[in-house]
Amino acid sequence: MSGIALVTGASRGIGRAIAKRLAKDGYRVWANYGRSRDEAESLCGEIEAAGGSAIPVGFDVADGEAVRAALESLIDAEAAPDVVVSNAGITRDGLFAMTSEDEWNSVINTNLGGFYHVTKACLRGMLRRRSGRVIAISSVSGQAGNAGQVNYAASKAGLIGACKSLAKEIASRKITVNVVAPGFVETDMVKELPAEDLAKAIPLGRFGAPEEIAAAVSFLASDEAAYITGQVLGVNGGMYM
Ligand code: NAP
Repeated sequence: MSGIALVTGASRGIGRAIAKRLAKDGYRVWANYGRSRDEAESLCGEIEAAGGSAIPVGFDVADGEAVRAALESLIDAEAAPDVVVSNAGITRDGLFAMTSEDEWNSVINTNLGGFYHVTKACLRGMLRRRSGRVIAISSVSGQAGNAGQVNYAASKAGLIGACKSLAKEIASRKITVNVVAPGFVETDMVKELPAEDLAKAIPLGRFGAPEEIAAAVSFLASDEAAYITGQVLGVNGGMYM
Protein backbone atom coordinates (compact mmCIF):
# COMPACT_ATOMS: atom_id res chain seq x y z
CA MET A 1 0.00 0.00 0.00
CA SER A 2 1.17 3.55 -0.57
CA GLY A 3 -0.46 6.96 -0.70
CA ILE A 4 -0.77 9.40 2.18
CA ALA A 5 0.21 8.68 5.78
CA LEU A 6 -0.83 11.05 8.55
CA VAL A 7 1.34 10.81 11.65
CA THR A 8 0.36 12.83 14.72
CA GLY A 9 3.11 14.10 16.98
CA ALA A 10 5.63 13.69 14.18
CA SER A 11 7.84 16.57 15.27
CA ARG A 12 9.85 14.60 17.83
CA GLY A 13 10.63 11.15 19.23
CA ILE A 14 8.72 8.09 18.08
CA GLY A 15 6.41 10.01 15.74
CA ARG A 16 9.38 11.54 13.96
CA ALA A 17 10.88 8.08 13.39
CA ILE A 18 7.51 6.78 12.15
CA ALA A 19 7.19 9.69 9.72
CA LYS A 20 10.66 9.07 8.33
CA ARG A 21 10.06 5.35 7.98
CA LEU A 22 6.70 5.73 6.24
CA ALA A 23 8.24 8.31 3.90
CA LYS A 24 10.97 5.80 3.10
CA ASP A 25 8.24 3.21 2.47
CA GLY A 26 6.88 5.54 -0.23
CA TYR A 27 4.11 7.43 1.52
CA ARG A 28 3.55 11.15 1.25
CA VAL A 29 3.63 12.10 4.93
CA TRP A 30 1.41 14.64 6.64
CA ALA A 31 3.61 15.37 9.64
CA ASN A 32 1.47 16.76 12.44
CA TYR A 33 3.01 18.84 15.19
CA GLY A 34 1.56 20.60 18.20
CA ARG A 35 4.10 23.12 19.49
CA SER A 36 7.32 22.12 17.72
CA ARG A 37 6.85 23.76 14.34
CA ASP A 38 10.58 24.15 13.63
CA GLU A 39 11.21 20.47 14.32
CA ALA A 40 8.32 19.47 12.03
CA GLU A 41 9.66 21.69 9.27
CA SER A 42 13.17 20.27 9.65
CA LEU A 43 11.72 16.74 9.54
CA CYS A 44 9.93 17.48 6.27
CA GLY A 45 13.13 19.02 4.91
CA GLU A 46 15.03 15.84 5.77
CA ILE A 47 12.39 13.66 4.14
CA GLU A 48 12.35 15.76 0.97
CA ALA A 49 16.17 15.83 0.85
CA ALA A 50 16.10 12.03 0.93
CA GLY A 51 13.74 11.98 -2.07
CA GLY A 52 10.48 11.61 -0.13
CA SER A 53 7.42 13.80 0.23
CA ALA A 54 6.16 15.44 3.43
CA ILE A 55 4.35 18.51 4.69
CA PRO A 56 4.11 19.84 8.23
CA VAL A 57 0.54 20.09 9.52
CA GLY A 58 0.03 21.98 12.77
CA PHE A 59 -2.84 21.30 15.13
CA ASP A 60 -3.46 20.36 18.74
CA VAL A 61 -4.90 16.83 18.58
CA ALA A 62 -6.98 17.56 21.68
CA ASP A 63 -8.79 20.42 19.96
CA GLY A 64 -11.53 18.89 17.82
CA GLU A 65 -12.28 22.07 15.90
CA ALA A 66 -8.62 22.65 15.07
CA VAL A 67 -8.23 19.03 13.92
CA ARG A 68 -11.28 19.23 11.67
CA ALA A 69 -10.29 22.59 10.22
CA ALA A 70 -6.80 21.39 9.32
CA LEU A 71 -7.71 17.94 8.04
CA GLU A 72 -10.91 18.75 6.16
CA SER A 73 -9.14 21.29 3.95
CA LEU A 74 -6.17 18.98 3.43
CA ILE A 75 -8.43 16.05 2.56
CA ASP A 76 -10.37 18.26 0.11
CA ALA A 77 -7.13 19.41 -1.49
CA GLU A 78 -5.45 15.98 -1.67
CA ALA A 79 -7.33 12.87 -0.48
CA ALA A 80 -8.13 11.06 2.74
CA PRO A 81 -5.01 9.45 4.18
CA ASP A 82 -4.39 5.76 3.55
CA VAL A 83 -2.65 5.36 6.90
CA VAL A 84 -3.50 7.25 10.09
CA VAL A 85 -1.04 6.89 12.96
CA SER A 86 -2.24 8.33 16.27
CA ASN A 87 1.04 8.83 18.06
CA ALA A 88 0.79 12.24 19.77
CA GLY A 89 0.84 11.76 23.51
CA ILE A 90 1.74 13.37 26.81
CA THR A 91 2.33 12.32 30.40
CA ARG A 92 1.37 14.18 33.58
CA ASP A 93 2.65 11.63 36.08
CA GLY A 94 1.96 11.54 39.80
CA LEU A 95 0.16 9.48 42.38
CA PHE A 96 -3.56 9.29 41.74
CA ALA A 97 -4.40 10.86 45.10
CA MET A 98 -2.45 13.96 44.00
CA THR A 99 -3.65 14.07 40.39
CA SER A 100 -5.52 17.27 39.59
CA GLU A 101 -8.56 17.34 37.34
CA ASP A 102 -6.49 19.26 34.82
CA GLU A 103 -3.76 16.58 34.83
CA TRP A 104 -6.42 13.94 34.33
CA ASN A 105 -8.26 15.77 31.55
CA SER A 106 -5.23 16.93 29.60
CA VAL A 107 -3.83 13.40 29.35
CA ILE A 108 -7.18 11.82 28.43
CA ASN A 109 -8.06 14.59 25.98
CA THR A 110 -4.69 14.43 24.22
CA ASN A 111 -3.95 10.71 24.18
CA LEU A 112 -7.48 9.35 23.75
CA GLY A 113 -9.41 12.40 22.56
CA GLY A 114 -6.73 12.97 19.93
CA PHE A 115 -7.38 9.51 18.52
CA TYR A 116 -11.10 10.29 18.34
CA HIS A 117 -10.72 13.65 16.61
CA VAL A 118 -8.05 12.62 14.12
CA THR A 119 -9.41 9.20 13.17
CA LYS A 120 -12.95 10.52 12.84
CA ALA A 121 -11.86 13.36 10.56
CA CYS A 122 -10.14 10.88 8.20
CA LEU A 123 -12.49 7.94 8.36
CA ARG A 124 -15.25 8.93 5.95
CA GLY A 125 -12.85 9.09 3.00
CA MET A 126 -11.21 5.82 4.04
CA LEU A 127 -14.58 4.09 4.32
CA ARG A 128 -15.54 5.32 0.86
CA ARG A 129 -12.25 4.04 -0.53
CA ARG A 130 -12.67 0.70 1.24
CA SER A 131 -9.05 0.41 2.28
CA GLY A 132 -6.72 1.80 4.87
CA ARG A 133 -4.82 1.41 8.08
CA VAL A 134 -5.52 2.93 11.47
CA ILE A 135 -2.64 2.50 13.94
CA ALA A 136 -2.55 3.83 17.49
CA ILE A 137 0.50 4.09 19.71
CA SER A 138 -0.48 2.87 23.16
CA SER A 139 1.96 1.84 25.90
CA VAL A 140 2.94 -1.02 28.14
CA SER A 141 1.40 1.13 30.91
CA GLY A 142 -2.00 0.65 29.28
CA GLN A 143 -1.51 -3.12 29.26
CA ALA A 144 0.08 -3.75 32.65
CA GLY A 145 -0.73 -0.61 34.62
CA ASN A 146 1.92 1.57 36.27
CA ALA A 147 1.89 3.32 39.63
CA GLY A 148 2.04 7.06 39.10
CA GLN A 149 0.40 6.84 35.70
CA VAL A 150 -3.31 6.24 36.39
CA ASN A 151 -4.32 8.98 33.92
CA TYR A 152 -1.82 7.89 31.27
CA ALA A 153 -2.60 4.17 31.66
CA ALA A 154 -6.33 4.91 31.40
CA SER A 155 -5.77 6.80 28.15
CA LYS A 156 -3.54 4.08 26.72
CA ALA A 157 -5.84 1.21 27.76
CA GLY A 158 -8.69 3.26 26.30
CA LEU A 159 -6.91 3.27 22.95
CA ILE A 160 -6.74 -0.52 23.01
CA GLY A 161 -10.47 -0.88 23.65
CA ALA A 162 -11.28 1.77 21.07
CA CYS A 163 -9.12 0.12 18.41
CA LYS A 164 -10.48 -3.38 18.99
CA SER A 165 -14.03 -2.04 18.73
CA LEU A 166 -13.32 0.07 15.65
CA ALA A 167 -11.54 -2.91 14.05
CA LYS A 168 -14.79 -4.87 14.34
CA GLU A 169 -16.86 -1.99 12.97
CA ILE A 170 -14.84 -1.36 9.83
CA ALA A 171 -13.29 -4.71 8.92
CA SER A 172 -15.97 -5.14 6.25
CA ARG A 173 -14.53 -2.07 4.53
CA LYS A 174 -11.06 -3.65 4.49
CA ILE A 175 -9.66 -1.11 6.92
CA THR A 176 -7.49 -2.62 9.64
CA VAL A 177 -7.10 -1.08 13.09
CA ASN A 178 -4.16 -2.08 15.25
CA VAL A 179 -2.20 -0.90 18.25
CA VAL A 180 1.53 -0.75 18.87
CA ALA A 181 2.37 -0.76 22.57
CA PRO A 182 5.95 0.33 23.24
CA GLY A 183 7.88 -0.23 26.44
CA PHE A 184 10.58 2.31 27.32
CA VAL A 185 11.84 4.11 24.22
CA GLU A 186 14.66 6.65 24.13
CA THR A 187 12.88 9.98 23.60
CA ASP A 188 12.31 13.26 25.44
CA MET A 189 9.38 11.61 27.24
CA VAL A 190 11.64 9.35 29.31
CA LYS A 191 14.82 11.45 29.51
CA GLU A 192 14.34 12.12 33.24
CA LEU A 193 14.02 8.41 34.08
CA PRO A 194 16.91 6.35 35.54
CA ALA A 195 17.50 4.32 32.38
CA GLU A 196 20.22 2.04 33.76
CA ASP A 197 18.12 0.93 36.74
CA LEU A 198 14.97 0.46 34.70
CA ALA A 199 16.78 -1.50 32.00
CA LYS A 200 17.58 -4.21 34.57
CA ALA A 201 13.89 -5.12 34.64
CA ILE A 202 13.69 -5.45 30.85
CA PRO A 203 14.47 -8.97 29.58
CA LEU A 204 16.36 -7.58 26.56
CA GLY A 205 18.27 -5.30 28.95
CA ARG A 206 17.84 -1.93 27.26
CA PHE A 207 15.42 0.78 26.18
CA GLY A 208 14.11 0.61 22.63
CA ALA A 209 14.96 3.00 19.82
CA PRO A 210 12.24 5.04 18.10
CA GLU A 211 13.15 3.30 14.83
CA GLU A 212 12.18 -0.04 16.38
CA ILE A 213 8.66 1.25 17.01
CA ALA A 214 8.58 2.70 13.50
CA ALA A 215 9.46 -0.71 12.03
CA ALA A 216 6.40 -2.26 13.69
CA VAL A 217 4.19 0.54 12.37
CA SER A 218 5.65 0.11 8.90
CA PHE A 219 4.78 -3.59 8.96
CA LEU A 220 1.22 -3.00 10.18
CA ALA A 221 0.77 -0.39 7.44
CA SER A 222 2.01 -2.74 4.73
CA ASP A 223 0.03 -4.98 2.39
CA GLU A 224 1.60 -7.95 4.15
CA ALA A 225 -0.37 -7.09 7.31
CA ALA A 226 -3.74 -7.09 5.51
CA TYR A 227 -5.05 -10.01 7.61
CA ILE A 228 -4.08 -8.50 10.97
CA THR A 229 -6.68 -6.39 12.73
CA GLY A 230 -7.69 -5.61 16.29
CA GLN A 231 -4.25 -6.62 17.59
CA VAL A 232 -1.90 -5.13 20.13
CA LEU A 233 1.74 -5.52 19.15
CA GLY A 234 4.03 -5.06 22.14
CA VAL A 235 7.46 -3.64 21.24
CA ASN A 236 8.91 -3.63 24.71
CA GLY A 237 12.02 -5.80 25.02
CA GLY A 238 9.96 -8.45 26.79
CA MET A 239 8.85 -6.15 29.61
CA TYR A 240 5.27 -7.33 29.29
CA MET A 241 4.28 -10.62 27.67
P1 NAP B 1 7.86 12.86 22.97
O1 NAP B 1 9.27 12.68 22.58
O2 NAP B 1 7.51 13.62 24.20
O3 NAP B 1 7.06 13.46 21.72
C1 NAP B 1 5.68 13.66 21.83
C2 NAP B 1 5.15 14.08 20.49
O4 NAP B 1 3.72 14.25 20.63
C3 NAP B 1 5.73 15.39 20.02
O5 NAP B 1 5.94 15.33 18.62
C4 NAP B 1 4.63 16.39 20.36
O6 NAP B 1 4.55 17.45 19.43
C5 NAP B 1 3.40 15.54 20.17
N1 NAP B 1 2.25 16.09 20.89
C6 NAP B 1 2.04 16.13 22.23
N2 NAP B 1 0.89 16.73 22.50
C7 NAP B 1 0.34 17.08 21.30
C8 NAP B 1 -0.85 17.72 20.93
N3 NAP B 1 -1.75 18.13 21.83
N4 NAP B 1 -1.09 17.92 19.60
C9 NAP B 1 -0.20 17.51 18.67
N5 NAP B 1 0.95 16.88 18.97
C10 NAP B 1 1.22 16.68 20.28
O7 NAP B 1 7.15 11.44 23.17
P2 NAP B 1 7.48 10.02 22.52
O8 NAP B 1 8.25 9.25 23.49
O9 NAP B 1 7.94 10.16 21.13
O10 NAP B 1 6.00 9.41 22.52
C11 NAP B 1 5.22 9.22 21.36
C12 NAP B 1 4.06 8.30 21.70
O11 NAP B 1 4.57 7.06 22.17
C13 NAP B 1 3.18 8.86 22.83
O12 NAP B 1 1.83 8.55 22.56
C14 NAP B 1 3.66 8.10 24.03
O13 NAP B 1 2.67 8.01 25.01
C15 NAP B 1 4.00 6.76 23.43
N6 NAP B 1 4.93 5.97 24.22
C16 NAP B 1 6.20 6.42 24.48
C17 NAP B 1 7.06 5.64 25.24
C18 NAP B 1 8.46 6.03 25.55
O14 NAP B 1 9.11 5.35 26.34
N7 NAP B 1 9.01 7.07 24.96
C19 NAP B 1 6.60 4.40 25.74
C20 NAP B 1 5.32 3.98 25.45
C21 NAP B 1 4.49 4.77 24.68
P3 NAP B 1 4.99 18.98 19.74
O15 NAP B 1 6.31 18.97 20.42
O16 NAP B 1 4.98 19.54 18.34
O17 NAP B 1 3.88 19.57 20.59
